[in-house]
Amino acid sequence: MKRAVASKVMLVGAGPGDADLLTLKAVKALRQATVALVDDLVHPGVLKYLKRSARIVHVGKRGGGSCAPWSSQATPAYRGGAPGLGRPRARPSTPQAFIHKLMVAEARRGERVVRIKGGDPFVFGRGGEECDVLREAGIEVEVVSGMTAGIAGPASIGVPVTDRRHTRGVALVTGQTGDVRNGGDEPDWSALARSGLTLVIYMGVARVRHIVGALLAGGLTADTPAAAVSHAHTPAQRHCVCTLATLADTLAGEGLGSPTILVIGDVVRVSPHWLAAQTLPAAATRGVAA
Ligand code: SAH
Repeated sequence: MKRAVASKVMLVGAGPGDADLLTLKAVKALRQATVALVDDLVHPGVLKYLKRSARIVHVGKRGGGSCAPWSSQATPAYRGGAPGLGRPRARPSTPQAFIHKLMVAEARRGERVVRIKGGDPFVFGRGGEECDVLREAGIEVEVVSGMTAGIAGPASIGVPVTDRRHTRGVALVTGQTGDVRNGGDEPDWSALARSGLTLVIYMGVARVRHIVGALLAGGLTADTPAAAVSHAHTPAQRHCVCTLATLADTLAGEGLGSPTILVIGDVVRVSPHWLAAQTLPAAATRGVAA
């Protein structure tokens, strides 16, 4: 029996891959859901916690090159019955406005909607925008934080992003341009270079040469340690450990594509992979992390 009033929407972070990284709260939300709106970066293993009867709608976003290796398995068509909604535009990406309408419509129908996002919903996940839309529609929303790729990815290769022996903190930055409404659409790379913070860059692979150039121009030295982790916490995980100056070529040479986290700063020295790179041939600086 459907409830007449709009249900609360759960905005759930699924972590970067491996379903074991879900929080218990996330699992509880998944178990209660009747409709799941699932982002492209959510690992399919996460969906096993949904009820068999739950309706799954894949609403992939691919801006920023965040395409997951499993995305081709996603179901593009929306088969829900919400009034006034067409199908999302054909792949490669579901328009954000469609996702907003869908969340509101399903909640108003009394469905228990779980909106599942890769990593943390509030870290480059458009979670804030979705909360705004739901609240403006008078629909309650609860956010369930998830493990973000920018911390869990480096951690998987032994990089502690705020190690106090090396830094006072970490900046989580997007490598993409666009949609910053408070003046300028490019991170201030020069200020970041001078900040002394570990730089964790999401969606940075496509513009890595530009980013590296801007950081070098801003004063970071060419030998600043750098690492990249792609498909972190999935069976497809790969990484490389190098320096700022060699980062772009190493990524290209290794064929590390999206989704990849870049981490730049002295904290990379703590990784056993960095230590190995100092003593072993170049081939030892890359690989599949345990
Ligand atoms: N909300 C997500 C980030 C979404 S933005 C989070 O908190 O993790 C998409 C970007 O996140 C990708 O382009 C990539 O830079 C990063 N990312 C997400 N999952 C990843 C993974 N498993 N491995 C490496 N990077 C990942």
